[in-house]
Amino acid sequence: VRTRFRTKIFITSVAVGAVSLLVSSLLLSGQVRERQSAAITQRLTDEARLIADLLAAAPSLDESALDPEADRLGHLSASRITLIAADGRVVGDSTQTPEQLRTLENHGSRPEVVAARDTGFGESRRYSTTIGTDMLYVAVRASHPIVRYVRLSLPLTEIDAQMTAIRNLTIVALAVTIPIALVLSWVLSAPLARRVQAIARVANRYSAGDLSRPGYDYGVDELGTVARVLDASVQELGRRLEELSRDRARMEAILTGMVEGVLVVDRDGRLQLVNRGAQQMLHIDTSALGRRYVEAIRHPDISEQLGATLRGDEADARELKLTRDPGRTFVARAAPVAAAGGGGAVLVLHDITDLRRADQIRRDFVANVSHELRTPLTAIRGYVEALLDDPADMENARRFLDTIWRQTTRMERLVTDLLRLARLDARQETLDLTACDIRQLFDTVVDDLAQTIESKGQRVTIVVPENASHVSADPMKLHDVVRNLVENAVNYSPEGAELQLEAGRERETYRIIVSDSGPGIPPDDLTRVFERFYRVDKSRARPGGTGLGLAIVKHLVELHGGQVAADNRPEGGARFTITLNADG
Ligand code: ADP
Repeated sequence: VRTRFRTKIFITSVAVGAVSLLVSSLLLSGQVRERQSAAITQRLTDEARLIADLLAAAPSLDESALDPEADRLGHLSASRITLIAADGRVVGDSTQTPEQLRTLENHGSRPEVVAARDTGFGESRRYSTTIGTDMLYVAVRASHPIVRYVRLSLPLTEIDAQMTAIRNLTIVALAVTIPIALVLSWVLSAPLARRVQAIARVANRYSAGDLSRPGYDYGVDELGTVARVLDASVQELGRRLEELSRDRARMEAILTGMVEGVLVVDRDGRLQLVNRGAQQMLHIDTSALGRRYVEAIRHPDISEQLGATLRGDEADARELKLTRDPGRTFVARAAPVAAAGGGGAVLVLHDITDLRRADQIRRDFVANVSHELRTPLTAIRGYVEALLDDPADMENARRFLDTIWRQTTRMERLVTDLLRLARLDARQETLDLTACDIRQLFDTVVDDLAQTIESKGQRVTIVVPENASHVSADPMKLHDVVRNLVENAVNYSPEGAELQLEAGRERETYRIIVSDSGPGIPPDDLTRVFERFYRVDKSRARPGGTGLGLAIVKHLVELHGGQVAADNRPEGGARFTITLNADG
């Protein structure tokens, strides 16, 4: 780039110099030749007229005196003088001897002589056979008895010599000026070439992707202005590109992090973007990109939504199930993409399975609560009606009132449990951790239930090893947990059953195990017993149970960061294991 640009400037300036010199010297030499020959012609004419005048004043000169006279005048004028008679005969010549004159051919037909006869003046340039060189001839008429024409001639060599001088001067001028021009243009083009080179370097760096500021002063002329303006546009473009890529990275992070599935198709329905959520939901991967959504996704509802949106129709959000996992429910919502250079559509898939499930659970719960409340209410109402019908029947009244009392207590317990679950759901119960004495806790629970245990003839064993004497927990809540489990064990085990309350510690893990020798829990129900209102056998449900006990247990244990699990002892009977972190 450097040599090319600089050489161009160089060659241009040298060529301009040489051509202008040549043209001016050509013009000059033409001018000079013209002026010179005009001046010579004038001089010869003047001299010829002078000689004609002299001859006219001396009519007495005879033929023998004419040639010597021509010689004499010739010496004075430095031109060749020829005196010609009316018949063309040469009667005197400054360059010829009298003998030569006699053999000289007749000059009557010489062009200048012919012109002088007709107009009084003649001029001609031609090769002289007499002298043997190019000559300029001028002839005028004379009024002398013998001499009719006076002709003066001069070799053109003199003019040519002048021309040669000019040419030589031109060559010398060229020889001197061209080297000077070379040096000057080389020196003067250097700063310009350096700037162009620097600008080219910056341009090359930009095109290689390095957009850092060059820190180069472009200068204030047009070249500098162009370079500065282009530089500023490149910087601006670079800034926008950076912004774009930042936006893009941000958008990608958002799309990847979204649980919703997002699809983008172009105007022709080709997949442009499928985020991770959509890939998982639709069981496709990035190889689907660029393919048509109809083939890549193969779901009639999705196709219809995207199709409608691409056609410009409004597409309502719709609920759909995907053939691959029919257990899940999705909501698909499509919207047009308004973008320069052709729109497209974006489809968002929202997994609402959990929402639907939660909804179902809530509905079931409400139905269950209503049912649980209605049973005792119906009983109470029946007995109250019976009492109203026959207030005098004192014998049954006592029994009826007893039942009413039991049903009311049951309802009260149910409402208490429901309120507690509601509080736990809302995370309104906080933990008050202390080191609980587990043996003391077991003893309290067994004392509370001593009456029932005794009446059923059941035996309770308590096992607390030395290293498990204390656990970090909320004592009131842990008491409720153990009491619920022991109450169940007492109630669901037959008379004479064996109950065991056991604590144990293994490094950081603390276990409380409540087991019995009762009927146990069918394997299919082991996880379900912790659900609200779930009972293994509805018919066997003890009247006092609310069906919420184990749900509350689970909640309380989880509030402690622990777990509770149900299984059956190998030798028969249910076993509930609570796992806690020993140090809270
Ligand atoms: P409930 O108020 O009915 O006892 P729970 O939530 O405490 O409610 O218990 C749920 C169900 O789990 C009970 O209805 C019962 O069928 C079963 N269950 C709980 N503990 C035992 C146990 N020790 N032995 C056998 N079945 C049990």
